[in-house]
Amino acid sequence: MAKTIIFIGPPGAGKGTQAQRLAEEKGFVHISTGDILREAVQRGTELGKKVKEYIEAGKLVPDELIINIIKEKLKELDGKDIILDGFPRTIAQAEALDKMLKELGRKVDAVILFEIPDELVIERLSGRRIDPKTGKVYHIKYNPPPPGVEVIQRDDDKEEVIRKRLEVYHQQTAPLIEYYRKQNKLHIVDASKSPDEVYKEILNVIE
Ligand code: ADP
Ligand code: AMP
Repeated sequence: MAKTIIFIGPPGAGKGTQAQRLAEEKGFVHISTGDILREAVQRGTELGKKVKEYIEAGKLVPDELIINIIKEKLKELDGKDIILDGFPRTIAQAEALDKMLKELGRKVDAVILFEIPDELVIERLSGRRIDPKTGKVYHIKYNPPPPGVEVIQRDDDKEEVIRKRLEVYHQQTAPLIEYYRKQNKLHIVDASKSPDEVYKEILNVIE
């Protein structure tokens, strides 16, 4: 059966970085709800207009909106191995996901929790840069972009929004840890290690 893997962890823990590598090297489809929403904002679609303010304030967008997006996406991915990065982020989203997957004859296979202290997250997010052409994630100190690659900073990677996003994570998303622990699906990786070490830990879980 096609694998369904969930990445949970605070913003800046390295979820996108690892998901991009698993997509490149192992053929997983990387579904980042943050990327989907930012693209909608950039294009100025109806969805984009609805979610822009939430994202800029570091708040979660309403469950119903994001659940509908994932529902459509999952239908297109029959038979494919997927990584959900940034979804679910609330218990309501997790319950809706279980139901959607069941209807498609799938289930959550493993949940990987990226464990990392808040101070490290702030450093990672302040230095994060994105190549807008490819969506690839870089860091000014830990993973600088190659010469010639023009990068941008995300609007929500400003210190005051970063703090808000961390608070939202601890209040609204951290309860998912217990939700998946009870289902025996939770695997913890030490996300403060180097990208290669984190990648190895993840492969140990999913292969
Ligand atoms: P998330 O998707 O969890 O928000 P990202 O993958 O975007 O996090 O990573 C946040 C920042 O930290 C990026 O600038 C990225 O290059 C950098 N980064 C990711 N993993 C590591 C790591 N293991 N060590 C150091 N820096 C990292
Ligand atoms: P990310 O790229 O995962 O850091 O997400 C960026 C922003 O998109 C978040 O701060 C939220 O505003 C929004 N977002 C992404 N995924 C979700 C989700 N599953 N539920 C609610 N809001 C989300």
